[in-house]
Amino acid sequence: MSSMVNYKTFTKALTLFCLFVFLYTIIPQKYNLILLILKYTLIIFVIIILMMYNKILSMNQGDDVQPQTKPEFDIMVKDYSLDSQMFKKQFNFLAETVLSLSSSISLDCSSAIYIIDPEKQCFILQTENNNKFVESIPVSNPLVNKFNKKDKKLYQKDSPEKWNEIFGHQNWRGSECAIFCPIILSANTVGFIVSMVNHFTDIDKKEHKFHNELGSFISFGINTLGVLEERANSEENKSMILEVLSDIDFKSDNQIIYNKFKFLIVSMFKYDRLTISIKKESENRREYDKGLNLVIKVIDGDKDLFTEGVDFPTNGSLHGLPVIKGKSITASNWQETYNNLFRFSSAESNENFYKPILGVPIIVNQENKGSIFLERRSKTTFSKMDEVNLSLIGRVLGSALHWKNEYEKIYIDATHDGLSGLLNHQTFKERFQDEVKRAERFQHKMAIMIFDLDKFKKVNDTLGHQYGDYVIQTVAKIMLDNVRAVDVVARYGGEEFAIILINTTAVMSNVVAKRIVSNIADYKFSMDNIETRITISGGMSEYPTHTKKMKELIEYADQAMYETKQNGGNDITIHNSQ
Ligand code: GH3
Ligand code: MG
Ligand code: MG
Repeated sequence: MSSMVNYKTFTKALTLFCLFVFLYTIIPQKYNLILLILKYTLIIFVIIILMMYNKILSMNQGDDVQPQTKPEFDIMVKDYSLDSQMFKKQFNFLAETVLSLSSSISLDCSSAIYIIDPEKQCFILQTENNNKFVESIPVSNPLVNKFNKKDKKLYQKDSPEKWNEIFGHQNWRGSECAIFCPIILSANTVGFIVSMVNHFTDIDKKEHKFHNELGSFISFGINTLGVLEERANSEENKSMILEVLSDIDFKSDNQIIYNKFKFLIVSMFKYDRLTISIKKESENRREYDKGLNLVIKVIDGDKDLFTEGVDFPTNGSLHGLPVIKGKSITASNWQETYNNLFRFSSAESNENFYKPILGVPIIVNQENKGSIFLERRSKTTFSKMDEVNLSLIGRVLGSALHWKNEYEKIYIDATHDGLSGLLNHQTFKERFQDEVKRAERFQHKMAIMIFDLDKFKKVNDTLGHQYGDYVIQTVAKIMLDNVRAVDVVARYGGEEFAIILINTTAVMSNVVAKRIVSNIADYKFSMDNIETRITISGGMSEYPTHTKKMKELIEYADQAMYETKQNGGNDITIHNSQ
């Protein structure tokens, strides 16, 4: 606000100055004294105006924490109006997903999502995971304007007053730190995700990157909702598509997503045959090079040789054409319109062919990744409305697949340790809680192991930190190779690992633990032609025999691990086994 007051005062001073100049020129020469007074007043005014001008200039350049006279966020975000029930449901679903990911990366991190209300000129709190955030923040808040950018940290101690507008009045310690990540709709900032930690050292580069990814995830979601709002030609279609979207479980398999869209298409169109095909990842080079790069994921209606799992070429096939063109194709008799193409394969018999067709691309992150195809035996061609609706579905399916990919990437990043690929400490604890609940319900036992590499400092000191990293990665692999897929393996600390063996006892798990210990001791570590050997020590506790409490189970395993170390290492000890 202060810059606005200064602009006003400056304008007033300038007007007065002009008035004096005017008087000076019109007063006749004979009033010498008046002219003299006016002359000195004018000089004083010139000085005042210059000083004020200087001040305004330095304010505008020097301190960009000052708000813009007009906020950036002046767009109307009607498109995804959160008052629409379905949109709200879909948005909340995305927001919950994002916030739960945010708490997997760190327990101490509180996050919230704000979206602009253009009428109130405020950012309104949509959802949060820690009850720490205020309900609304004025868009003029200079900190939001300045820090709602990638890679910028806001420290409480730097702007305590404006900080309170965002986080409320509390007894702040001064070490608190926040990061913002903009939510963008059609190149405009419409909101942000804000995360706050108690100590600034708690936010590292990885977390920063992670929060930016969450912002993109939400932005993408809102854009998809915007497209849906714009293009869906009936409320009923829109709500059917939204229903499918909000029903998607990002942790589930892609096939489940395809099937959900199949049921949507079944309920919206009349056809004799539906085919959804997707580009294969190039893991099978030979087949990929042969051009067989689309695979059928879903069929409905008539069955023929070209069923789920069959691959076919993009080039030369009718079903590949929307993928090549990146837009919809339709024909009343495709053999006439596209007489140089075959349906799936040149070897396919010509009998029994469908005539009217409608095909649309599935676009994932601006790349044509597949096609949805409807075919009819009858002469009734597909309508313009069918084309609009199927194109929309192709687009939304593309978005859902993109979401799913992004979610997977972010999820792995948030829950796994970057070096070893094992679960991180925080996620280990969450999984442990889940497993305790499950074991309680099914009356199962579990073994909890803690491992720590022996004399690991020496590896770092003599062979270098990189070599140490390589040892950690290799040990992680050996551990994974020795447990079942259901067991939980985590990097518990620097060179400490934790394992939960599900539905077993400590005595039975001892075989596995001893195998891990001996496999590590026998392994010839080798990097850049430098070889070394290392051993590991472990400790084990048993649920619920020793205790039902997670914290104590870890403590007991840890104490047992230290016992192993005291006995010379390279072994495993079960708690209370003596
Ligand atoms: P002890 O047998 O008693 O376990 O001896 P130690 O040398 O292994 O001692 P300690 O467990 O205290 O040492 C941990 C060392 O692990 C210290 C730290 O430098 C190193 N470390 C922790 N995280 C990493 C990492 O990510 N990479 C590398 N290279 N070293 C790490
Ligand atoms: Mg250690
Ligand atoms: Mg150690």
